[in-house]
Amino acid sequence: MHYKKIENLIDKAVQDNIKISQIIIEEEIEERETSRAAVIEKMNQNLNVMKQSIEEGLKEGHTSASGLTGGEALTMQNSNNFLGDNLYKNVVVKALAVSEVNACMGKIVAGPTAGASGIVPAVLLSLAEKYDIPDERVISALFTAGGLGEIVSKKATLAGAEGGCQAECGVGSAMAAGAAVELMEGTPKQVGDAFALALKNLLGLVCDPVAGLVEVPCVKRNGFAASHALTAVNMALSGISSVIPPDEVIEAMMEVGDLMSVSLKETSEAGLATTETGRKIAEELKDF
Ligand code: SF4
Repeated sequence: MHYKKIENLIDKAVQDNIKISQIIIEEEIEERETSRAAVIEKMNQNLNVMKQSIEEGLKEGHTSASGLTGGEALTMQNSNNFLGDNLYKNVVVKALAVSEVNACMGKIVAGPTAGASGIVPAVLLSLAEKYDIPDERVISALFTAGGLGEIVSKKATLAGAEGGCQAECGVGSAMAAGAAVELMEGTPKQVGDAFALALKNLLGLVCDPVAGLVEVPCVKRNGFAASHALTAVNMALSGISSVIPPDEVIEAMMEVGDLMSVSLKETSEAGLATTETGRKIAEELKDF
């Protein structure tokens, strides 16, 4: 994609009175030298994998090989003590489900990464379910999510090892928020606002996986980041703008990532990984 700034995507969408997804689709067609139908079909396959991973994650009795995670999506799904509405519940349940499948080495769509793979499908598919939105529109929104993520990868990073978890779950939340705004017929500017609002509020999130496994805190963090995205969507759709524009938020994320100690960037040398319990788990799993 030749766009390097979200601002340019928004300007182009406004100028041509089109959606951001339409720009991304055109870019994909050009870059891959293929047809529109082929590009759409590829994204449709991704959507199907997302749906299957949610189904898989909600099956009885699945636990990761380490035993650290699994079954919590189902626990929440079956809970009668849930405060809040069904949309919110679904978002969290679906994010946990996909993330548990990833922890079990199942098939997921890595967007922006495997560790943060639950957020985008949870938000988009929960909204689609609630508002009866057809797959074609969800597919378009996925292009928007992908385009936003690609710009982050060009301007900064999507790797926890480079930027901390703000670059994984933070960006996943921002991609989901921006794409969801488009799915709900928000304006291109609101897409940028939702993206910026979501990412701004996860700046500084460290990557400190217990025992070096993408399980604790990753699985539950996907649930949190997905519900966080929903808040950004609601703020943007209600007309709240981000004071700091999305591209500057990405730059701030990279600066924060560069300032972050390497011990908090996927090395499991600090944070939750080195708590008393984190160390105990790592010791128990050392031959794992
Ligand atoms: S804590 Fe680290 S490994 Fe886990 S999801 Fe975040 S960036 Fe990925």
